[in-house]
Amino acid sequence: MSPHSEGSSTVAFSCAGCSVIYQTVQVSTAAKGVFRCTACYQPVHRWDGAYDYRSWQRLEMEVDTLPLLVPPTDPKE
Ligand SMILES: [Zn+2]
Repeated sequence: MSPHSEGSSTVAFSCAGCSVIYQTVQVSTAAKGVFRCTACYQPVHRWDGAYDYRSWQRLEMEVDTLPLLVPPTDPKE
């Protein structure tokens, strides 16, 4: 028994609905699923392939402190 699955890595996704950042552990296990934002219930990430995502946790930090693929928000709304 190993505490870490082989090939696991920590990745982060931002919610498109409310910009909350979630951190998750990507593991090399074929799986299919979806994670929904706990704040606005929009799907944050869907997966169906060679990886599974576990241990989702919300990160308490501002979006602009992370160099992620966060699209710029349009201030017009
Ligand atoms: Zn959200």
